[in-house]
Amino acid sequence: RAKQHGRNTYQWFASDLNVEASERVELRNDLQRALEQGQLELFYQPIVESRTGKIRGSEALIRWHHPRRGLVAPIQFIPLAEDTGQIIELGQWVLQQACRDAIRLLGMGYRDYRVSVNVSPVQLRQEGFVDLVTDTLRQTGLAPERLELEIVESSVLYDTDQVVDRLGRLRDLGVGIAIDDFGTGFSSLSYLKIMPVTKIKIDRAFVKDVISNRRDAAITQGILSMAHHLSLEVVAEGVETQAHAAFLRKNNCQLLQGYLFARPMPFKAFAEFLATRGNASDNEDAGGTDDT
Ligand code: C2E
Ligand code: MG
Ligand code: MG
Ligand code: MG
Repeated sequence: RAKQHGRNTYQWFASDLNVEASERVELRNDLQRALEQGQLELFYQPIVESRTGKIRGSEALIRWHHPRRGLVAPIQFIPLAEDTGQIIELGQWVLQQACRDAIRLLGMGYRDYRVSVNVSPVQLRQEGFVDLVTDTLRQTGLAPERLELEIVESSVLYDTDQVVDRLGRLRDLGVGIAIDDFGTGFSSLSYLKIMPVTKIKIDRAFVKDVISNRRDAAITQGILSMAHHLSLEVVAEGVETQAHAAFLRKNNCQLLQGYLFARPMPFKAFAEFLATRGNASDNEDAGGTDDT
């Protein structure tokens, strides 16, 4: 099912902000309609424990079912939504939907399940962001520990003190904070020093050639070693081969995410995936009788 969502489908949109003005206006109007008419959908990609193969959670990744243009990938509209401010409304929808879906999965018995939600720097710069998260958790009934926010390093480029303070308050509530695309920003280490993070996601740019390129291997091992000393969990993104997985496992990377395990998929397919690979909860108490 994921095959048809290949790159070629999206080529008509420019991924940066240099698209024609008229195209941008059209896209902005279309996106407004998408928000109103429910054309957006969250796909989910499993995050797997490297040692056991158990599914520990998933990342929510937005997709847009455009009425004429088909399935549109986030790179084609998130930057524009950030530019127009529509990311605020879109981000609220994502957060609420991800929490609702998480509640459904927890209700189906996946007790360890945790959902990771991408948050734009623009959202983090909103004064009400902490309240938004708190309200969404309360409304949906999701425990803060079941939610993780993925932020990029550039999130603390502006309004640093306020953003760090907001992240700290969310952290205090029990919400996880992961640095996404780690290593691709230009000042990763100084940000690590000030950000109240719980997890690092190694960018797939490093994982891709970890077997063939000694520098990429050294960088990946360095990140893992540093994270270990900081007591941070690490997820490797873009794990596509068994060789990637073996290297990462050997170097004590706890969590893996990538096409080797599954591509991002609609909620229903993900629920079925959990049911067949259904192992996210079997180390917990009740109902764990099936492996006796
Ligand atoms: P990201 O957060 O770094 O998400 C990981 C991206 O890598 C996803 O692309 C995922 O489909 C892709 N990926 C996962 N495993 C593999 C693999 O093994 N190989 C390869 N080649 N790619 C893999 P996607 O879904 O197109 O999302 C792209 C970016 O769009 C995300 O990068 C994130 O920055 C942004 N994004 C997605 N959903 C949201 C959202 O709800 N809100 C915001 N603000 N941004 C979002
Ligand atoms: Mg992410
Ligand atoms: Mg990433
Ligand atoms: Mg990325």
